[in-house]
Amino acid sequence: MVIYTLGVYGSKFKNKNLATFLFLEKDDFFLIDAGSLYSKKDIIQFCEKYKTDEIKIFLTHAHLDHISELPFFLDFLVSTPYKITLYLSLFTKKLLKNHLFNNKIWPDFSKIKNAKGKYVLNYKFIKPLQIIKLKNIKLIPFKVSHVIETYGYFISNKKTYIYFSGDTNSVLPIFKFIKRNYTKQKSYLFVDISFSSKNTKIANLSKHYSSLKFIKDFFRYKLNKHFKKIFVYHIKPWEEDLIKKELDLLSKYIYILKDNEEIKF
Ligand SMILES: [Zn+2]
Ligand SMILES: [Zn+2]
Repeated sequence: MVIYTLGVYGSKFKNKNLATFLFLEKDDFFLIDAGSLYSKKDIIQFCEKYKTDEIKIFLTHAHLDHISELPFFLDFLVSTPYKITLYLSLFTKKLLKNHLFNNKIWPDFSKIKNAKGKYVLNYKFIKPLQIIKLKNIKLIPFKVSHVIETYGYFISNKKTYIYFSGDTNSVLPIFKFIKRNYTKQKSYLFVDISFSSKNTKIANLSKHYSSLKFIKDFFRYKLNKHFKKIFVYHIKPWEEDLIKKELDLLSKYIYILKDNEEIKF
């Protein structure tokens, strides 16, 4: 499995892209979130290379930093043979339909066809703990703790096991999931740490991890026993230097992601 980080940040800033990940397993690929669809990795090249007209995007939730390039990408796709299958909860779909793709802010692309006469935006609904089987990979969404309904994802190709936290301020939903779906294998964790310890109050209010709360949870729940490696993302760019400094004591166990990286498992 290869993961390309099209973006890793929790806000848009100069030369910093919003958190969006492209997963590639053999000849199949999908994305998690749609904050950065125009990056150094060209999604259309993946379609051409793997001979598919379908771009699968799994949304964690409807917040702007996770959908911000979706409207423009759809606009572009209309004149191409490609289409998007958007995996999302009914709740997230209602928010997008009512507040974004409402023919006022932006067109309803689920009613617009591409150059091949196929609808350019297609919805597929996800439910908590439902197993979604793609060609070579399995995903299971689970609810996490955030200010609106948000999903994390368990992702596996039977060799590599990944827990993707989504926006959250707690690892408990992940442990709950691990307990229910017990696997012996040690896994990898991708986790949202948005703020430094000095902004723990804002982190608590907006339900993101601050480095302070994460370090506490790391020792409290012995995260190094459960996870082979912890990948940190969703950092607010202006907090980056301080967060890195504060997480330095965990440097043996964690890796702070950068834009445009290629991570091979
Ligand atoms: Zn976010
Ligand atoms: Zn959010």
